[in-house]
Amino acid sequence: MNDLRELYQEVILDHNKQPRNFGKLEQANCHAEGYNPLCGDRLNIWMNFNGDVIADVNFLGSGCAISTASASLMTDAVKGKTIDEAQKLCERFKDMITSDTEELDSVELGKLVVFAGVREYPARVKCASLAWHTLLAAFKDNNQIATTE
Ligand code: ZN
Repeated sequence: MNDLRELYQEVILDHNKQPRNFGKLEQANCHAEGYNPLCGDRLNIWMNFNGDVIADVNFLGSGCAISTASASLMTDAVKGKTIDEAQKLCERFKDMITSDTEELDSVELGKLVVFAGVREYPARVKCASLAWHTLLAAFKDNNQIATTE
């Protein structure tokens, strides 16, 4: 278990140091801003869609290592997925970081399992979930703009 924890820590530190999909997306289909007042984490998410598939997702923000790494891993995880799939993944992620269940669907969650440990630190749960809350807000932004019917 300790080895696993160290590995998880390494992944989080790596994504904090070199965040993936980092930087503003020009001419994005949708955008949302997220803020976690508890820790002071702020981030912006931009997305472009190809039909209902997330073709591009980028973020820019400043916050603690957990919030930055979570946004980085989130963008990696949802890129190429449909909006529906991404929303389901968001539910899985929230379940993982808030519940005590040991039955993690690691196949579905992939690298996101590195955040399983935050459930032991309630203040950190908000840091880890900020990117996902912002993602859901961005989908709503898209719905408002994209609804032409
Ligand atoms: Zn934080």
